[in-house]
Amino acid sequence: MNIIVCVKQVLDPEIPPAKFKIDPETKQVVPPAGVPPVISVYDERALEGACRLKDKNKGKITVISVGAEKAADVIKHAISMGADDGFVLSDPAFENLDSFGIAYVLSKAIQKIGGYDLVLCGRQAADWGAGQVGSILAEILGIPVVTLACDIEAADTSVRVKRIVNDGYEIVEAPMPSLVTVSSEIGLPRLPAGMRLMMARKKQIPVWKAQDIGAESSQMDKGNAHTEITGLSVPTRKTECEMITGATLSEAAINLVSKLANLT
Ligand SMILES: Cc1cc2nc3c(=O)[nH]c(=O)nc-3n(C[C@H](O)[C@H](O)[C@H](O)COP(=O)(O)OP(=O)(O)OC[C@H]3O[C@@H](n4cnc5c(N)ncnc54)[C@H](O)[C@@H]3O)c2cc1C
Repeated sequence: MNIIVCVKQVLDPEIPPAKFKIDPETKQVVPPAGVPPVISVYDERALEGACRLKDKNKGKITVISVGAEKAADVIKHAISMGADDGFVLSDPAFENLDSFGIAYVLSKAIQKIGGYDLVLCGRQAADWGAGQVGSILAEILGIPVVTLACDIEAADTSVRVKRIVNDGYEIVEAPMPSLVTVSSEIGLPRLPAGMRLMMARKKQIPVWKAQDIGAESSQMDKGNAHTEITGLSVPTRKTECEMITGATLSEAAINLVSKLANLT
């Protein structure tokens, strides 16, 4: 069974809020110095889903990531968890693409890799959280998509997917190849084993540029983007504190109740 997993490298969500800075002019997040980016949390779950399928059905896991060349680190992390191979897709033409552009680039790489039974994505990226790339990618590849998976089982020519819905879950079947987006309910990702960690660290991760995957510049024209970020800001929080007093405890309580009752 050949599985391709799309993983995104994101700003570490564990950084303290004070370190989170944006540049409102360029509408970009400013990466904090000395804090390495990490694999997006849902993509790590997608990878766990792929590893479980490989444990049961054998096969190969290939990981791809659109980003800077340092996205090789998330590919190495994936290999340390159980993936076999991976490619970074990095080119100035891929920078600041919207979800359609990212899905187009991923689709070209997937077509180049070929021979896949399943493509796995996270349910959404941990940074921008659009939750769009998986579905758009399936549309471009012309394959079915099942979203929000918490369990995936493979049969000969189909996959059985347990997916999260508002009041529980449902089970759907789709033919292979299909694309499945994975939710955190699939369970915790496995810890990389020591030997695999060392092997992954030494692995050379190839970088594919636009021409390596045959990506056409007309499909990555930022002037034709479907979405535009018109503003980016960090929410401001205002806190006010008023001490409620009274001559006795019960008077203070009465004063508090009357304050609460008159709140608008
Ligand atoms: C004008 C503009 C400027 C932007 N600038 C930046 C920027 O500087 N830096 C930045 O990181 N983003 C930037 N973005 C956002 C970027 O376009 C989004 O990352 C992209 O649209 C995908 O949306 P998302 O990340 O919310 O992914 P989602 O749709 O939420 O992702 C779903 C899944 O798709 C897969 N996926 C998504 N992105 C990738 C990827 N890069 N590689 C492999 N798999 C992936 C993963 O499996 C992920 O779990 C910009 C967007 C716009 C419109």
